[in-house]
Amino acid sequence: METFKIAVLPGDGIGPEVTREAGKVLQALSELDSTFKYESTEFNWNSEYYLENGRMMPEDGLEQLKTFDSILFGAIGDNRVPDQISIWELIMPIRKNFQQYVNFRPVKLLKGLESPLKNDKPIDFVIIRENGEGEYSNVGGTMFQGEAREMAVQNTIMTRQGVSQITEFAYKYACDHGLNKVTNATKSNAIIHVMKFWDQVVEEVAAKNSDIAYERYYIDALAAYFVQRPESFQVVLASNLFGDILSDLGSAIVGGLGIAPSGNINPSGEFPSMFEAIHGSAPDIAGKEIANPIAQIWSLALMLEHLGRKDLHDKILTAIEALLVEKKVLTPDIGGTATTEQVGDVIVEKLTK
Ligand code: ATP
Ligand code: MG
Repeated sequence: METFKIAVLPGDGIGPEVTREAGKVLQALSELDSTFKYESTEFNWNSEYYLENGRMMPEDGLEQLKTFDSILFGAIGDNRVPDQISIWELIMPIRKNFQQYVNFRPVKLLKGLESPLKNDKPIDFVIIRENGEGEYSNVGGTMFQGEAREMAVQNTIMTRQGVSQITEFAYKYACDHGLNKVTNATKSNAIIHVMKFWDQVVEEVAAKNSDIAYERYYIDALAAYFVQRPESFQVVLASNLFGDILSDLGSAIVGGLGIAPSGNINPSGEFPSMFEAIHGSAPDIAGKEIANPIAQIWSLALMLEHLGRKDLHDKILTAIEALLVEKKVLTPDIGGTATTEQVGDVIVEKLTK
């Protein structure tokens, strides 16, 4: 029997608080199910580590992480360290070197939660966001030739390989999960070079998958449809920037940042994938023990599904839904008064039922 090797990077702020609860769930699962074994190793590569060592991780950090099957990541961000450093020296190198070119974000209204939309239809789709190129490139700069001509330029980079591999992933996901529609988020009417190219490559892949319906919307209209008819989507494919914005909107219509999970996936399996809540380190509530751990626990569930244990993923979601339906032990962000730890304890308790 395989023992999964899991690297845990709790990070900053509420990262360690919610990751601790996910760790409890992991341990409970291994106690409940003799066919599931794991070993986890914690790494303290966070802003504190940076302040002591002048870097976000050791020189051989990536080499160390490479030996794991998966990474569970808390959140990073501390007002003593510029975001530029924490993001570009920790998260980005992991995403890029481990070719985690898929950012995977379920938008699913769990039982027991109410959407702020007055919509009684089920919301259940996934956003597949391009995670390695696009609008978030660091190619660009600023020029100062006197105030009147001061300017800044930032380039968007889209490659045929980058666009086609994310599209292939979206179609494979649809196929594997019995879904029959892919929605392309674009803006090729205004961003006439890169987004036209994006559409062209996406549509080449779509044409090879004609058994799955394809539709294309401009990002502005699509944002409105997320609010007006979220039940009509199954798989939404988006570039890096559009996917980022749509995922926050997606999380808002199904319960907020305390709930929303994500995966940074390396589809080939050559390198570990990384799973993390969408939310940041939330310095405003750090240390108060009121952070909602559901987003991180759901992210752990996504990890287990990725590792081939869909049964354990489903078990975790059932436990989370049981807690939400009961409405007794909830953190303040979703209307309760419970602590992070109390919510984690109840989820563990529900697992055993
Ligand atoms: P980042 O730049 O790292 O994404 P951010 O500034 O977007 O950070 P977050 O840390 O995601 O901010 O937090 C945004 C808001 O949501 C904050 O008010 C925070 O308290 C709240 N929040 C985030 N995560 C949680 C959580 N797990 N439970 C409860 N509230 C949360
Ligand atoms: Mg944010």
